[in-house]
Amino acid sequence: MLRLPLISFLLASGLAALSASDYPYRPVPFTSVRLTGGFWQQKQEVNRRVTVPFALKQCEESGRLKNFDLAAEVMRRRAAGEKDFQIKPPTIFPFDDTDAYKAIEGAAYVLSMQRDPALEATLDAWIARIAAAQEPDGYLYTFRTMHPDSPGHKWVGKERWDLDPELSHELYNAGHMYEAGVAYYEATGKRQFLDVCLKNAELLWRTFGENRRRLAPGHEIVEMGLVRLYRTTGDGRWLKLAQEFLDARGPTGKSYNQQHKLVIDQDEAVGHAVRANYLYSGMADVAALTGDARYTAAIAKIWENVVSKKLYLTGGVGALSDGEAYGKDYDLRHDGYNETCAALALMMWNHRMFLLTGEAKYMDVFERTAYNGFLSGVSVSGDRFFYPNPLSYDGVAKNNHGHAGRAPWFGCACCPPNLMRTLASLTGYFYAVRDDSLYVNVYAASEGTLKVRDTAVKLTQTTDYPWSGGVKLAVSPEKPATFTVRVRIPGWVQGKPVPSDLYRYESPATAAWSVRVGGEVVKASPENGYVAITREWRAGDSVELDFPMGPEKVRGNEQIAATRGQEAFERGPVVYCFEQADQPLPEAIADNAKITAVARPDFLESITVLKVDGLTAVPYFAWNNRGLAPMKVWVSVKE
Ligand SMILES: [Zn+2]
Repeated sequence: MLRLPLISFLLASGLAALSASDYPYRPVPFTSVRLTGGFWQQKQEVNRRVTVPFALKQCEESGRLKNFDLAAEVMRRRAAGEKDFQIKPPTIFPFDDTDAYKAIEGAAYVLSMQRDPALEATLDAWIARIAAAQEPDGYLYTFRTMHPDSPGHKWVGKERWDLDPELSHELYNAGHMYEAGVAYYEATGKRQFLDVCLKNAELLWRTFGENRRRLAPGHEIVEMGLVRLYRTTGDGRWLKLAQEFLDARGPTGKSYNQQHKLVIDQDEAVGHAVRANYLYSGMADVAALTGDARYTAAIAKIWENVVSKKLYLTGGVGALSDGEAYGKDYDLRHDGYNETCAALALMMWNHRMFLLTGEAKYMDVFERTAYNGFLSGVSVSGDRFFYPNPLSYDGVAKNNHGHAGRAPWFGCACCPPNLMRTLASLTGYFYAVRDDSLYVNVYAASEGTLKVRDTAVKLTQTTDYPWSGGVKLAVSPEKPATFTVRVRIPGWVQGKPVPSDLYRYESPATAAWSVRVGGEVVKASPENGYVAITREWRAGDSVELDFPMGPEKVRGNEQIAATRGQEAFERGPVVYCFEQADQPLPEAIADNAKITAVARPDFLESITVLKVDGLTAVPYFAWNNRGLAPMKVWVSVKE
């Protein structure tokens, strides 16, 4: 799939320390695309106004920031002569540091789009506190620094790193820190946090680099973080170390953290779903940068396994609460776990698969997850969260990490700030460019600027997607220029809810989709999921897309025990559910039930509901915003 044979050869023969290459399809950065209205702008605004300040406050109030102060205090007092002084870590998990990093990363993305001196001052103060907790040699992990003489937590090893392959999360913390340090540097041009990251990365290099010590990170993400440091600094050591961490996995170990096989031999999604999806994303990054197609081949197989056997209709993954893990093939139980972090990690991974291959099917999966199993993780109000995202709920279970219904925060708070950073940078998934082709992947009211070859092009989307399937895409080059615009034709409008036989529409709508330019229908069938329009583009030109939106009844593959004899309902990319807030949950629905869509601009920040046999179904992402009530996505079909 990779078109970089020369570079793979050079690397294999040790002739090139560094590849000059990267993803063949280059993403247009989120800072070049601005939402101007509609669905995602409303969500992103709530994220900026509510979720970001809320998460910052939670990190402070829950003691996560204080951990850095305590680590600094221990170092200071010991240096002043109190040789035995140490502090038992007061928060729950050794990875609590990462919530602060993710919050900074999300806030940095907000700053990149809109200056906010008060927010920037807060982050500067946080970064100073984080920097003060860094040990002189670059180590940064508050749970050990607070309590250096003996492990202050059962997951922390006696010596640095020893328990990282298990649960200490030292390298996981580093990975999230690198993501945040780069994000803040890119947002503000300030280096302090980036320099903290680089000092830490130097320590990793001295410890692990060039296989001085072979160790498989227990919770992946340091691989992606190192790649980000590499892209920012051009220092090839960070890419090399990312690759060495990948190659240190397996061939024997636990599948829980993907250490059961060499990564290049893995062919099934197993174990902890967030770790797994971060690993596959890291493999994609390293494949893109090194040209090593063995990683690409492995993640392509793993992707097939997920999409044909382990993907929920909502785009969620990780059926098992036990181990927060992928289940066996076709184990897609309705009360599945589907962690919010696993959903957004699946989006990252699918986007990277697109960037490697230029195939729209990956962005189809991305879209399904974004509108459903990812977005369900945050309330309409922006300050209540789901950690798991099951497809049914009994109305009482405390299945949300001890909470019944959405919670303001968690002891293990990975999901809220992770969701926040994803929403804040969502426009980075919209467009990509390769040679003289421009790829349009996400439909949302927005304005973007990008370059095709040397021509600056402004793209303006006018649409009410996902509530309506009409999209007007104005394509305005600075001067007339010939290039190709490739618009994604979603799988769902072609009768395929997912790029596999895992789900199907009972009777796919017959209304045809269309692409028009200057009022004329473009008569081309999709290639790799895109309709390509090559012409001389001039300011004022536009493409009009019409995607008839169903609604559709969905059936699951017969191999999925949970969905046998049942159906679910979709409209466009949005999956629906029944919630007892509207009426008692239906036991069964007539096979010939009539379904109509009703726009409700007054309801749950403007949604479209479905009327199914007179019953109301609401978008899955919007459930549990009206108090505790039973919910279900799948309903039995009446004989
Ligand atoms: Zn999470």
